[in-house]
Amino acid sequence: MQIKRLRLSGFKSFVDAADLRIEPGLTGVVGPNGCGKSNLLEALRWTMGENSPKSMRGAGMDDVIFAGTDARPARDFAEVSILAEIDGGETEVVRRIERGAGSAYRIDGRDVRAKDVALLFADAATGAHSPALVSQGRIGAVIAAKPAERRAMLEEAAGIAGLHVRRKDAEQKLRATEANLARLDEIMSDQE
Ligand code: ATP
Repeated sequence: MQIKRLRLSGFKSFVDAADLRIEPGLTGVVGPNGCGKSNLLEALRWTMGENSPKSMRGAGMDDVIFAGTDARPARDFAEVSILAEIDGGETEVVRRIERGAGSAYRIDGRDVRAKDVALLFADAATGAHSPALVSQGRIGAVIAAKPAERRAMLEEAAGIAGLHVRRKDAEQKLRATEANLARLDEIMSDQE
């Protein structure tokens, strides 16, 4: 997967719509302290489904919405779009949050669940918790990780994290079907 464009509107310090084209090769983001470099990485992780406000450096998820300054009023929503090349085609993933109303996701204009977005990125061997996204302080966390956490990182890097989610879904469906079959057996033996 290659991310080709990041578009932000009302996300943290990016109050005005901002478009970042990411060309092939190495991309560097430079700027003075506090100009919003880390906010860009957070916007990527947030759109991929990050749901911990703490890891977005906020108290609640609404804190990702532009909070206002002396010169500009706060916004009521934030929206981030990732345009990525996946399996040879272009896919756009959008996450939008409205103050007090939570988040909604879209893939290529279709309303989808957070889980669909997580699966899309997991299958492309990335995601909100991908070890490829290294934020400040994360290197220490990788070194200190427990074996099970490290295994999850390796599985994510290997692109098999999505399979675990599907396996869990399949197991749930299997259990529900088994319960239905048992119920059917009971009804049939009652009628005999
Ligand atoms: P450094 O180089 O010091 O790590 P940085 O360039 O990575 O800085 P960020 O940490 O991305 O900067 O941005 C911090 C800025 O974002 C701060 O000025 C902070 O006030 C602003 N900010 C964060 N959340 C919001 C919000 N909800 N509304 C408005 N501004 C916000």
